Amino acid sequence: MLGWAYVAGVARPVEARPGSTAVARDRGSAIVVCGPTRLRRAAALERWYRRAARARLGALLATEAERLGVRPARLTIRAQRTRWGSCSTSGTVSLNWRLLLAPVAVARYVVVHELCHLRVPNHSRAFWDALEQALPEWRAGHQWLRRHETQLLRYRTIDSVP
Ligand SMILES: [Zn+2]
Repeated sequence: MLGWAYVAGVARPVEARPGSTAVARDRGSAIVVCGPTRLRRAAALERWYRRAARARLGALLATEAERLGVRPARLTIRAQRTRWGSCSTSGTVSLNWRLLLAPVAVARYVVVHELCHLRVPNHSRAFWDALEQALPEWRAGHQWLRRHETQLLRYRTIDSVP
């Protein structure tokens, strides 16, 4: 049996294998998820997603922060039910692991959006001006999220695990 996971907007096959230890690994041709029950396999796939989100979104955050000349204090990966990211007054950027499912350009928009909050902490005109300068094509990512976010925020790994 095969399921599908989405990484950076690309569908990846998920292969389930029985096993006493719940663990997910990227085997190139498929994401292989082991575990004794479907629920345990789904939990393993979510852990895999969160690790992948930390690695990929973390790299994106570092690249964009350097390009923009800002320094976020740290990155936290969370499972917010209604939002993609946030930026605290102490400079901690929080990103939703489900952002990993979206195309890279969309993740970049959210990352740059949060980094702009390091300079302007609200959604005033000054903020949107800063965003426009940092990422002139930001509207495409913004609109993509508007169109797909309900579906994306509802994504559960149990739906991907056979
Ligand atoms: Zn914002």
